[in-house]
Amino acid sequence: MKEFNPISIKAKKPSWRKWLLFLIPIVALLIFLAYRFLIPGASSGRWAYYRALLIDRDSLSAFILKPGMRCGDSAFAFPTTGAIIGLWDQSYRVGHRHQGLDIFSGTSPGVTAVYAAYSGYLTRLDDWLSTVIIRVPEDPLHPDRQIWNYYTHMATRSGDSFISQEFPPGSYDVYVEEGSLLGFQGDYSGDPLNPTGLHLHFSIIKDDGEGGFLNELEIKNTLDPSPYFNLSVNHNNNAEEIPICEDGIEFADWDSLLEYE
Ligand SMILES: [Zn+2]
Repeated sequence: MKEFNPISIKAKKPSWRKWLLFLIPIVALLIFLAYRFLIPGASSGRWAYYRALLIDRDSLSAFILKPGMRCGDSAFAFPTTGAIIGLWDQSYRVGHRHQGLDIFSGTSPGVTAVYAAYSGYLTRLDDWLSTVIIRVPEDPLHPDRQIWNYYTHMATRSGDSFISQEFPPGSYDVYVEEGSLLGFQGDYSGDPLNPTGLHLHFSIIKDDGEGGFLNELEIKNTLDPSPYFNLSVNHNNNAEEIPICEDGIEFADWDSLLEYE
């Protein structure tokens, strides 16, 4: 008969805890690596860099693009003042894919003008406080198709609109020239207690084939804005840098033409 050995039983008891202590860091590491490398955009250091630039304003100015600026012979002119911190197909949280560009001016709500990047026909739905969309009948890069340029967050956090009075709610298919004032950057998110950081969100939405636009919240319904602005704004090609123009800049200073009321 085997002799009972209380010491050996005692020694086995904590082993599952030992395994757990061993496994927890490994699982945490795997989750981190999956988040870091498998989810596009989750890792961008652009946000932290931008926060540092907000303190060091002189350095920030190198990344601030201006309204009316064209990079090389880009089809679209830049619609506002700011640094592009959120790129197309960047992920802000697990499962999220950003459908456009987030352009941060680093100013205050209602101060920084937003203009039409390209001529077209503006619509503002009845319940849009901070958003307009501009139908471009001929995509300048693919003239056989219609596209839509979408501009949002142009209101205060509590929903006071910064959209130009020329475009009240219900505006439908109003012709606007490139460079027309649409409104001003704001921080409206729909939830006054949780506003966005002050910025313009701009995206290019696909047509639904019946004269309307597809749901702008899904990236598959949007186009990579890179070729339209001639800027590296696809996060898959530019994971860390704040995009700036690498070509010659052509500049029509729309802000200097603006008459403030
Ligand atoms: Zn955005």
